[in-house]
Amino acid sequence: MSDPRRLTFPHMGDYWIAVKRIAEISGAEVVVPPRITRRTIELGARYSPEFVCVPFKYTLGSLIEGLENGANVACQLCGGCRFSYYAEVQEAILRDLGHEFQFVSLGGGGNILHVMMDFQRKVAPDVALPRVARAFRHGFRMAQAIDAVQQRVRLDRAFEVEPGSIRRVEAEFLRELEATVTTRQVLELQRATLDALDHVPLSRPERPLRVLVVGELYVVMEPYSNCRIEEELARNGVEVHRPLDVTSLISHSVGYRRHVAELTRGSAPYVTHFIGAEGTESIVRTLAAVRDGYDGVVHLKPFGCMPEVNAMPALQRISRENTFPILFVSCDAQSAEAGLRTRVEAFADMLRIREAGVIHA
Ligand code: SF4
Repeated sequence: MSDPRRLTFPHMGDYWIAVKRIAEISGAEVVVPPRITRRTIELGARYSPEFVCVPFKYTLGSLIEGLENGANVACQLCGGCRFSYYAEVQEAILRDLGHEFQFVSLGGGGNILHVMMDFQRKVAPDVALPRVARAFRHGFRMAQAIDAVQQRVRLDRAFEVEPGSIRRVEAEFLRELEATVTTRQVLELQRATLDALDHVPLSRPERPLRVLVVGELYVVMEPYSNCRIEEELARNGVEVHRPLDVTSLISHSVGYRRHVAELTRGSAPYVTHFIGAEGTESIVRTLAAVRDGYDGVVHLKPFGCMPEVNAMPALQRISRENTFPILFVSCDAQSAEAGLRTRVEAFADMLRIREAGVIHA
């Protein structure tokens, strides 16, 4: 390829800021695709096999938009379950559509070290590995900052006195994060943002409703794909907890076998073997939510996702045996905010009535 490399990648939440910086430090030009919109999923759904899982459609649509905007290198991660063939199938589809580009698949098995080595070999072969390692360290630090700030946003958003005040702090943080150059700047910005959030006036009830969000990683982390369910829960006065983020994924990707063994032990007797992707984790987290006195769980499942479908009977059993509320949400290419809004409102009302003791466990 004689043109300069202009790299694109699929969107997932706000992590594009970290991915962009990794690529830039490694010497690549970056074309950030447009934010996920209805057009993205329409494009992805139009050119995907009908029954493929829905994150495939979102990420394909996002890659198409990146290539339309001038990218000539398309990057895709690969991992377990159907994620392991996203790259090959998406490359074939994009070529059939007439795009001229280099396709780069990164890191079979989802181990972050494999991703980094692949990235250096396939995207930045002229750049020394230590520089690429520095880029990844910086990008990881940015992702951790995003997770730390957004975790806090999820806890507080329902209780802001002035509507939009938390969103403003978060938006300012994301804008400034893009401009950071050193890891130290990232840390300082994270600290300053958490401090700013400390000063946002809140009106938190003594015992707020607490809900844990579990499910498949893409639909959990890309707000468009789950119809912004965390914001919807907050609108209904719910404190939202969500342990699955990039920080947790990366920390588990090293020592992954041990992580899987722990999950499998933790999910017994509901399942006694690893059921793939985040399925087992959804069960373990839900059991922890019951133990820790949460008011309910929201389970997010992409249409066509076998690991989360397999987790559902166990989750239903946990719900039945413990009289514990779980809202099951299936995210597909046609999901609409209006329909989900009604379900979330009803769920929050039910949790509130239950909390008041009208419905007894
Ligand atoms: S976890 Fe589910 S949605 Fe994600 S790639 Fe695997 S099968 Fe598809």
